[in-house]
Amino acid sequence: MKSEIYWVEARDLLLSLAAPVAAEAVALAQSAGRVLGFDLTAPEDVPPFDRSAYDGYALRAADTVAASREHPVTLAITETLPAGKVATLPVKTGQAAHLMTGAKLPEGADCVINFERTEFTETSVTLFAPLKSGDNVVKRGEDVAAGALLAPKGTMIDAGLAGTLAAQGVARPLVYRQPVVGLISTGSEVVEAEDPQPDGKIRNANRATFTALLEKEGCQVRYLGLAGDEEAAIAALIAEGLAACDAVILTGGVSVGDWDVTPAAMERCGVDILVRGVAMKPGMACAYGIRDNKLVLGLSGNPASALTNYCACVLPAIRRLCGRANPLPAEIEMTLATPFKKKSPATRFLRGRLDLTGGAVRLACPKDQGNVVLSSTIGCDAMAVIPAGSGPVEAGTKLKGFVI
Ligand code: AMP
Ligand code: MG
Repeated sequence: MKSEIYWVEARDLLLSLAAPVAAEAVALAQSAGRVLGFDLTAPEDVPPFDRSAYDGYALRAADTVAASREHPVTLAITETLPAGKVATLPVKTGQAAHLMTGAKLPEGADCVINFERTEFTETSVTLFAPLKSGDNVVKRGEDVAAGALLAPKGTMIDAGLAGTLAAQGVARPLVYRQPVVGLISTGSEVVEAEDPQPDGKIRNANRATFTALLEKEGCQVRYLGLAGDEEAAIAALIAEGLAACDAVILTGGVSVGDWDVTPAAMERCGVDILVRGVAMKPGMACAYGIRDNKLVLGLSGNPASALTNYCACVLPAIRRLCGRANPLPAEIEMTLATPFKKKSPATRFLRGRLDLTGGAVRLACPKDQGNVVLSSTIGCDAMAVIPAGSGPVEAGTKLKGFVI
């Protein structure tokens, strides 16, 4: 077991232990936000045929070589082709087909002229300038060539990928199942948000925070319940979680006080504890373990500590569980918009809001960065990392960090 390790080491260790859950086929309409479970290579060209880019006339470029204002070229119309209708006649020398945007080019035609640049009747069209072969034609395979890798396994399905799957005729894509993450709250002082709050008790904020964090990544959250500070009661919930979930997250009871029994409860369930504490602030207290390839992660009860530890160290492992091929949050360099007055003996994570006005990447941090101050996490979308051993940091300081 390791204690107080560097956060990157903790993050990479958890990531190395997390394996994607199994895949399942789902309806395309339900696939947005899910993670692709196979390499999508194009089975076919898109578009599947050469087609017109305009409403106009399909013809042979060779017929127009001598066309000019003084010497216009007039071609005979073979037929009219709405989009979706295939030509019944080839276009021969001296002929043109009248066609709509998106219509398949008839055999023999190799270019299109838009009708605004012509003079036309029902039976003929006149051109005043030459065309080149391929003009105004959307070529077969111009969007996607058959065999091309469109998206590797592990890509989250966004609007572009959903549309691309549809264009390729993949009506039921294989995606990773949504991992079930069990959530346990501990602490004899904690009551649920909907229950009365007797004197001395505090409301369960972590349940809602972690439900939101995990659902954002595409997990299904199974709330296993609230245990007090009894090792046996916590162990019973962990056992239930190990039986029914892909991973378990607990909050509370991971410090070193008399009532901090979460690690003991984890061990009682056969969980092998790998890490006790990460050298970071907030979020130092934690106990990461594993049993039968299932991660069991005990985080601080302090809401902002638990959230920071999760974002820095746990999030990539959760994304890997969801099947994501690139689970690390985007790393960015930010300019602090607000100073931070305290020293940072340990690596410190500042939570804040990105301000991109004017093209610069600035991070505005709420003043109170304390580990109990959950309200200052509202709207936060990035974290900056102050290296261990730093003094106070001024506004304008450039810091590395990541998007959450
Ligand atoms: P612990 O990690 O158990 O030492 O708890 C640290 C602090 O977080 C204590 O003040 C707890 O009352 C508080 N706390 C523990 N669990 C929760 C929770 N689910 N929601 C809000 N605060 C909590
Ligand atoms: Mg406690």
